[in-house]
Amino acid sequence: ETVDETQDLTDGFSLVIDAMKLNGIDTIYGVPGIPITDLGRLAQAAGIRVLSFRHEQNAGYAAAIAGFLTKKPGVCLTVSAPGFLNGLTALAHATTNCFPMILVSGSSEREIVDLQQGDYEEMDQLAIAKPLCKAAYRVLHAQDIGIGLARAIRAAVSGRPGGVYLDLPAKLFAQVINADVGAKSLVKVVDAAPAQFPGPAAVKRALDVLKAAKRPLIILGKGAAYAQADDAIKALVEKSGVPFLPMSMAKGLLSDMHPQCAGAARSTVLKDSDVVMLIGARLNWLLSHGKGRTWGDAPKKFIHVDIEPREMDSNVEIAAPVVGDIGSCVEALLDGMGGSWPKAPADWTGTVTAKRDENIAKMAPRFMNNKSPMDYHGALGALRTIIKERPDTILVNEGANTLDLARGAIDMYKPRKRLDVGTWGVMGVGMGSAIAAAVETGHPVLAVEGDSAFGFCGMEIETICRYKLPVCVVVFNNDGIYRGDGVNTGGGSDPATTAFVKGARYDKMAEAFGGVGVNATTPDDLRRAVNEALDSGKPTLINAVIDPAAGAESGRIGNLNPQSKLRKK
Ligand code: ADP
Ligand code: MG
Repeated sequence: ETVDETQDLTDGFSLVIDAMKLNGIDTIYGVPGIPITDLGRLAQAAGIRVLSFRHEQNAGYAAAIAGFLTKKPGVCLTVSAPGFLNGLTALAHATTNCFPMILVSGSSEREIVDLQQGDYEEMDQLAIAKPLCKAAYRVLHAQDIGIGLARAIRAAVSGRPGGVYLDLPAKLFAQVINADVGAKSLVKVVDAAPAQFPGPAAVKRALDVLKAAKRPLIILGKGAAYAQADDAIKALVEKSGVPFLPMSMAKGLLSDMHPQCAGAARSTVLKDSDVVMLIGARLNWLLSHGKGRTWGDAPKKFIHVDIEPREMDSNVEIAAPVVGDIGSCVEALLDGMGGSWPKAPADWTGTVTAKRDENIAKMAPRFMNNKSPMDYHGALGALRTIIKERPDTILVNEGANTLDLARGAIDMYKPRKRLDVGTWGVMGVGMGSAIAAAVETGHPVLAVEGDSAFGFCGMEIETICRYKLPVCVVVFNNDGIYRGDGVNTGGGSDPATTAFVKGARYDKMAEAFGGVGVNATTPDDLRRAVNEALDSGKPTLINAVIDPAAGAESGRIGNLNPQSKLRKK
């Protein structure tokens, strides 16, 4: 393309920004630096909200959760090589979790990279990203920026959502072309995630299996929460009368208080059900692969509602695959049920309800204790009341014991209010998730963090303070990983591998950046401080002092630690 210098000109920087704005991308999470510093500045000047983080991984986690919350790709912008690699962890996480995200990284000169001649931050980023995401693209010419971004958006949100890498070499930003040529090259993506309808035979097959069930169960996963088909899903659950079990990020899709919620009867329903309808949940490790002790001996039939055909039969036989987007599938199932549909058998629903109520009653007193130092239940008792009183608050949760115990303790009342470690059970997603949740929804955020999990992302407390976000971080500080009372059995003065500084004061970190810091040693202290933070909307970090002896090894997943027979405990 020859450039007519007498006409209006545009450049790569402007075209990237114009293409994003044309497609409704209004927020970028990233870390500035060569070669994308000016891109961030210019995007901000053009009205895009650009949030600068302290580490790319956290910016990437923010983009990933923005994708989950909005069904639009969350965008993370990084520098080349090391910044790119930091962001890549989050891109792989997004892909694993089926969240739409685009990682945009600057890169160095192709000519030099390909001949491995040693450029500034040289790395073949496209090749490295490819196996770790859903799709990866590179744009070499300014007039291809529009089509490049369009491809990235479609790949991220259509079908099973996931992470997309978009490689933008430094030279691209400086390329100049005629403005009219540039404007014509932009693409506004129409119907980025087209509806995918299940076939009528698949719907009928699924309903036949459901109708014949004596002990049916519906499992709702984070794909169902993502789909934003809340009303249809509620209608399906209520019309069928089937007990439902929410996976952790689907908690609140229907309220945990719903009479059909079987969350507190998990073991019973997994073991004793005879038909299980999975909606946007995979039979992966989080559901014990659909077999083994957790699932009991009773023969089971699975109905699986998912957009990804290859998910069917991935672990066990699926009697009735229903492939399509969840909104369309659930609507089709509702239609197929017609005017009258037999409710799930009362002896089964009665058994489930009785078990649930029994378990809830058993736990209740533990949440009432006011011990100091706190145990997990005492501290969580305070927080569960707060979420009950403030159901619009977004709860971010990570850690080992802090995660496992909070998941059960804190009831959720509304969809997409619980954000946690997702499919990988990864630590360090908390601050990125909290920032994106505040930015994307405008609701207050309560981040309940293990002290170890917080350590992976804690510097972003500065980001939270800088942008004055309504985020209250509670660090469950038990002086270590899993427990704070580990000993170094090798002797010497080094602490145990799982121990941190004793009596650390994380609250001072918030104070260092102009936020509010509180040291809480009792559930009453904690309740007061969190309520104050949520009322004021001021960035707050509460150091919740937890008994170092209170936790269990690896929380609830200690069974995943490899056990050598030479080292029986
Ligand atoms: P959980 O961990 O909560 O069980 P998973 O991440 O295992 O949830 O499963 C989510 C599933 O939802 C994935 O298999 C994904 O393909 C599916 N999914 C995501 N979005 C949609 C959608 N809009 N329609 C249908 N299925 C979807
Ligand atoms: Mg800890």
